[in-house]
Amino acid sequence: MFALLLGFLTLFAAPLAAADEGRLLVFVSVLPQQTFVERVGGERVRVRAMVQADQSPHTYEPTPRQVAELARAQLYLRTGVAFEDAWMPRIRAANPRLRVIDLRQGLPLLTIVDHHHDEHDHDHPHGLDHAHGRDAPDPHIWTSPPLVKAMSATIRDALIALDPAGSEVYRANQAAFAAELDALDGELRTLLEDLPSRRFMVYHPAWGYFAETYGLTQVAIEREGKEPGARTLTALIEQARREGVRLILVQPQMNPKSAQEIARAIGGEVAVIDPLAADYADNLRRLARLIAGARE
Ligand code: ZN
Repeated sequence: MFALLLGFLTLFAAPLAAADEGRLLVFVSVLPQQTFVERVGGERVRVRAMVQADQSPHTYEPTPRQVAELARAQLYLRTGVAFEDAWMPRIRAANPRLRVIDLRQGLPLLTIVDHHHDEHDHDHPHGLDHAHGRDAPDPHIWTSPPLVKAMSATIRDALIALDPAGSEVYRANQAAFAAELDALDGELRTLLEDLPSRRFMVYHPAWGYFAETYGLTQVAIEREGKEPGARTLTALIEQARREGVRLILVQPQMNPKSAQEIARAIGGEVAVIDPLAADYADNLRRLARLIAGARE
């Protein structure tokens, strides 16, 4: 009976594999993850990211085309961004065969602390689509190379489980990628040594794991996913002055007035950098140089 069942599963699986030219079809939520899976999977996988450049993973909704393609996918690698919670039940319903693996497994997760300097400063109502609730788990796990190295092992094991014939390839690719991540980590540590200020401001606090890894502190400007009110803005300007903050980061998906206002008030610099960039290593090098260069 078990053999018969296996036979049926193989019958159903075979045409799907053929349609994808024998390659595994893997979905991820954000573009940096796509880079990681392509590094480990090489030619044996096709990877699709749900959230494309210039879209926010917090308010994102899958397209009908993506939902149709998901029905043919073998693997979904989660990272914990907001739309996953809303969409995962529907994605699973559309494709009960889909293996879903959470890349957060085994990682030391941080919390996004949404400070309220002034509890009465609510000129923005709590939005339905607010990015991270108070003290929510921080989903931006891909911003730290040591964590990506751990994730790459999870990716390797997930690919081997679905495609044992490729295990040699996956092991070799992951080892090479891990070595590159180690080298990147060393480079970033050198760039970020001996800074006069280890604090930077950021509109949307996407760099928590990067900051944690390199002994930096990010100060978030947004409050519950919204522009801060006037009092909070004044408090942030005072804090930036007090703590010698010079650099204010924004991302292309969100470039709000408050960041410009703080920069103007402190004579600091606003830099646009995308935590969702597919070009992972160069993007982090650029971030480290921005932080290192933002000295008085
Ligand atoms: Zn985010």
